[in-house]
Amino acid sequence: MRASIILMPLLAIAAAAQRKCGTTQVPGALKEQARAFQRANARSSFPAAMAANRTLTIETYFHVIGSDETEENGWVPDDKLQKQLDKMNQDYKQTGIKFDLKETTRTVNKEWATAAVDENDTTVELAMKKELRKGGYSALNVYFRPLGDSLLGICVFPEDVEEDSDEFWLDGCQVLHSTVPGGSTEKYDQGATATHEIGHWLGLFHTFQDGCDGGDQVDDTPAQADPTQGCPKGKDTCKGDKYPGEDPIHNFMDYSYDACMDEFSAGQTTRIFQFWDKYRAKQGGSRLLWAL
Ligand SMILES: [Zn+2]
Repeated sequence: MRASIILMPLLAIAAAAQRKCGTTQVPGALKEQARAFQRANARSSFPAAMAANRTLTIETYFHVIGSDETEENGWVPDDKLQKQLDKMNQDYKQTGIKFDLKETTRTVNKEWATAAVDENDTTVELAMKKELRKGGYSALNVYFRPLGDSLLGICVFPEDVEEDSDEFWLDGCQVLHSTVPGGSTEKYDQGATATHEIGHWLGLFHTFQDGCDGGDQVDDTPAQADPTQGCPKGKDTCKGDKYPGEDPIHNFMDYSYDACMDEFSAGQTTRIFQFWDKYRAKQGGSRLLWAL
């Protein structure tokens, strides 16, 4: 009798980390403005029609901040930065937006690289950004560094700012260095974190903002009670006639795995351009008169 041996492969299944974004508090004024846009868009199809055919190129600056020149401690190599830029352009193509990378800065500074994100104490963040930030309020600055506290990214919503104010200098997105394409953050290693954070910089809220009865003030993203983990097909957290549609798990403004995210809705595209014209274009970009 022949003994058969079945080899069971030992699969080391690491517990997947959850996406954690620090951009959770929407300023009251921005929420009010979003509601005003939502009401305007319900009355007229004009903003949506204008946004659908629009293109925009955004002046972009990358900043790499490491504790030292190892990838582990923040030093993202040039080839991965190029893939990150390609990913942003691929993801935003559906909105008509392009990112034009003007310059990449590299800084070794352990204090800047590892500073905790703390909205109540921005001393170190402000010092770093005052040194590195480039362009006007219509220029996107992305800071790649080890963020700590399990954060994948944090960004700043648009608002009315004065040039040279602290709010102006603090503008921009901070992105965990290891979330770039080919990075070491499992499940979040295809560069979608930068896409998500830039969505906030353009004015988009999370699709699950304030739960079923809150929302992102965009009519074509279904109501969603909580952030999505993984890529659960059929997830539907807000049920009943009042909440049509399943959770928008493929939307870039949810918390799904990178591989699961591939869309902005038409309503989000309209909102991006409305916020752009309201807050950022007036600082030097192109502004259309139809913005409220
Ligand atoms: Zn977010």
